[in-house]
Amino acid sequence: MKKILALILCAVMVFAFAGCASYRSYDEIKEDGKLVVATNAAFAPYEFVDDNGEYAGIDIEIAQAVGEYLGLEVVIQDINFDAIITSVNSGKADLGIAGMTVTAERLKSVEFSDTYATGKQVIITASDSGIKGVADLAGKKVGVQTGTTGDIYASDDDTIGEVVQYTTGTEAVLALSQNKVDAVIIDNEPAKKYIEKYDNLIIIDEEYTYEEYAMCFAKGNTELVAKVNEALAALKADGTLKAIIDKYINEK
Ligand code: GLN
Repeated sequence: MKKILALILCAVMVFAFAGCASYRSYDEIKEDGKLVVATNAAFAPYEFVDDNGEYAGIDIEIAQAVGEYLGLEVVIQDINFDAIITSVNSGKADLGIAGMTVTAERLKSVEFSDTYATGKQVIITASDSGIKGVADLAGKKVGVQTGTTGDIYASDDDTIGEVVQYTTGTEAVLALSQNKVDAVIIDNEPAKKYIEKYDNLIIIDEEYTYEEYAMCFAKGNTELVAKVNEALAALKADGTLKAIIDKYINEK
């Protein structure tokens, strides 16, 4: 019985503690020739499935450019956003790229690359909802994407009436369009994309937070972080990074 308990405890600890992360060494990745990248492709313009059924978006192209620089073929794993950290820490994916915000809390369980983009959290609501800013969310039902910073901020805000979690931003915004929630807190660029198909939804002109996006890696995998940072620096220096971001955001 004691043994079983110890086993269970260890299994729990593997997921709970950073030190137990398992990952492929850079040599193993090189030998395989493939860089396994976890994302959640429901977050345009960062990651989505385009009309041809291909993965596209800023993060996808950055991952591909990093792969090219390192001489590796990128293999995309499309999973739920809140599974990405577990995926890199169990070695299923070599890195995660998903418009993921660098936070002190996440830094306890993963490594982050250098920042490659910035974002902010905004409020989406119906044009006639009367919600004009963060203060108006008091007592309201707010939709979020599970495990995102929008979820964390909303859940930490005691004035909000109820926080309703959805697997993807798409589902949260759909629920908003059906009046199941009063507002959605989500990243600004995806917010613009999500409301495109709904005439009555607007983005409130008050930002919730400023954020920095980075790729995440298994805790302790500083070797791969260094390689990816080297690639990112080269892509920044030669203008590739800016060109990718401009392609999806500034030049529509
Ligand atoms: N930037 C947000 C976060 O890191 C949302 C990311 C996402 O939904 N893909 O939590």
